[in-house]
Amino acid sequence: MKALIFDVDDTLYDQIQPFKRALENHLKVAENLLEPIYIASRKYSDEAFDAVLSGEMTLKASHIYRLQRALADFGLEISGDEALIVQEDYSRYQGQLALSSEFKEVFAYCRQAGIVMGVITNGPHQHQLKKINSLDLFRWIPRENVLISGEVGLAKPSREIFDLLAEKLQLSSADIYYVGDSFENDVVGCHNAGWKSIWLNHRNHLPSQKEIHADYTLQHRSELLPLLKTIRQ
Ligand SMILES: [Mg+2]
Repeated sequence: MKALIFDVDDTLYDQIQPFKRALENHLKVAENLLEPIYIASRKYSDEAFDAVLSGEMTLKASHIYRLQRALADFGLEISGDEALIVQEDYSRYQGQLALSSEFKEVFAYCRQAGIVMGVITNGPHQHQLKKINSLDLFRWIPRENVLISGEVGLAKPSREIFDLLAEKLQLSSADIYYVGDSFENDVVGCHNAGWKSIWLNHRNHLPSQKEIHADYTLQHRSELLPLLKTIRQ
């Protein structure tokens, strides 16, 4: 392992935290429902995404739609105005993200072991940059090793974005490891590019493709550092 590259969303931080904080400002929700409501809101968000792109739905309307539909799945209700306030809070809290505690140790280990670090993240350029700054990642990872799909015009799981970083790092694909939570984007992307994948499957998802396997699968972030030490031996 000469390099370890990180996904951002729901890998370096818990994506549910800002959602949870925003929702709880306006609605009393049982703790065990937060994750399923969040996952449902992502599903409805994906559904509305095409309608927003084609101009059939405004972005605001999509924010109301995804939250109201997700809550309705669990017998909960919110007005359109309230949904927009939740969205405002959500957006603000996304600018106040906390790096999951396990990663400080991982970064320190990589730095001391001479393992190059980088990031590949999917999303709009400025939006992802705001999150990366909020996580203070540039303290550990050089800017030139950070690829944002909206900035470079390539996205996971396409191998081109992986190839682009491998080229920048001047490393061969077999020496590069990648850690991410999404089977579809991260594990499949690594498979496409010949990188080694570490699937952080902390939400117990099923693989979306049977013929592709992660090189390593973890259930919890705390398992990453011990795994890296094993790989290095
Ligand atoms: Mg992710």
